[in-house]
Amino acid sequence: MSCKAVFLDKDGTLIEDIPYNVDPDRIQLSLEVTQALQKLHQAGYLLIVITNQAGVAHQFFSESALDAVEQRLHHLFKQVGVALSGFYYCPHHPDGIVKQYAIACDCRKPQPGLLLRAAHDHDIDLTQSWFVGDILHDVEAGRAANCQTILLNNGNETEWKLSPTRLPHHLVSNLAEAAEVILAVDQPPANARPGFYHTPNSAENIASQFIDSWQSFKVLVIGDVMLDCYLHGKADRLCQEAPVPVVAIAEQVDFPGGAANVAANVSRLGVNPFLLSVVGQDESYDHLQAALKQHSIQTEGLVVTTERSTLVKQRVVANSHLLLRLDQGSTAVLSQETETKLICSLFDLVPVCDAIIISDYGYGVMTPKIIQTLADLQKDYQKTLVVDAKKLSLYQFIGASAVKPNYLETLQLLQLPQQAGDRVAQLLPHQDKLLHLTGANRVAVTLDRDGVLMVEKNHSPFHLPTLPAPTHHTSGAGDTFVSTLTLALAADAPTLTAAQLATAAAAIVVTQPGTTTCTAHELRRKVDPSLCGK
Ligand SMILES: [Mg+2]
Repeated sequence: MSCKAVFLDKDGTLIEDIPYNVDPDRIQLSLEVTQALQKLHQAGYLLIVITNQAGVAHQFFSESALDAVEQRLHHLFKQVGVALSGFYYCPHHPDGIVKQYAIACDCRKPQPGLLLRAAHDHDIDLTQSWFVGDILHDVEAGRAANCQTILLNNGNETEWKLSPTRLPHHLVSNLAEAAEVILAVDQPPANARPGFYHTPNSAENIASQFIDSWQSFKVLVIGDVMLDCYLHGKADRLCQEAPVPVVAIAEQVDFPGGAANVAANVSRLGVNPFLLSVVGQDESYDHLQAALKQHSIQTEGLVVTTERSTLVKQRVVANSHLLLRLDQGSTAVLSQETETKLICSLFDLVPVCDAIIISDYGYGVMTPKIIQTLADLQKDYQKTLVVDAKKLSLYQFIGASAVKPNYLETLQLLQLPQQAGDRVAQLLPHQDKLLHLTGANRVAVTLDRDGVLMVEKNHSPFHLPTLPAPTHHTSGAGDTFVSTLTLALAADAPTLTAAQLATAAAAIVVTQPGTTTCTAHELRRKVDPSLCGK
């Protein structure tokens, strides 16, 4: 019968990543790694090291120096009661200076050659085996060999060139967590609850599992609500008073806008939102209420007041072209009574919700006192809290799990000029400053056609490209992104997975005209191609 194996990258995965180290004395196993190896060994996995050793091709050391490395590893494994079943290395590099090793081989990761050789030597069933590494080349090699793959997200991957062939099945922080995933996936306990470790073996299905797990959440959305109104008509003549088109309006379509659109997105993703904001006692609110009702959003959290008129953004669309936007509504300072009502609601709702989204367009709902109240409550309750605000600097001390500025908001924050070139390259050097100025654990900079740059405290940044979409109507995509990101983070998704889900949801929305939302079902189909047509 074929064996199952766990293939382990060496540097940065099994042992500390010391470049071109072949000194046995500098090779140690940490206690955490030792315990992981013991668990995997006891569960019957062969443990095999798969390593690129380009130092041979570059003449940093001789191939024979690797014998001492292998012997050292055998010794360390044996000391803790574990067998090292194989040590496979690739000595090649196409740019090497030692002629015999300076070749484009089939064994240097991301090629799967070493895995295939080990499988042949040890009669290993690769489909029942795992590859654990710390960079995406490891993942690509593992996937090419039909193994399940785990990426240690420990900062060693810096380029994040993601593609379907480089997408890890699981993302963890260290080898101990990787061992837990392997054991839980291969031998789920009888009473396993649905969750990350007990999913079918694909990255797509892992993402899908988070969608399942957030369905029972309660999410508080607070900020500026507005009515997004589209007046559709035909324009076939010019006005006599001035050279402007005359539009014969045939239809009015209303959508929830601003924080209300965030709530609509949360609702369509299968989660019950509680919307807190202020509206006027007017006809526009009647329209907004009807639009919210269509998304099954309760309106009891909206403070209705005669001090303000409801915010409306009215667009005139003729022959599918957007001609004009008309903004109206009150942005006056809230009265003390209205502010107090919102603050009382926060005291009621924050303790019982799973996540909070702030959608602040600068129209006056998010007063300094309300922001301070949220900051105080956040200290006590530590909720997943995501901020989408025109002026992020107001939220520096709120304890945000993530903030989501767009490119221009990011430039404003960093006081940088706008540029036409590579926007990711422009922002990357400022990652620490971005984290400092926002006070957030993560900053997701949305760059529309250029995707998303994610900066996270104590982690390497990564960039996700925009997913392909047939058209680019961008209205509402930011709200979809922030809603999905919040739900995924609240469901304890790793940041990469949360960002992937949010990017996928935004890609769905940009294919649809007007301010729209993405359903949980659409998102599942997008992240799990096996569900296409279901
Ligand atoms: Mg490595």
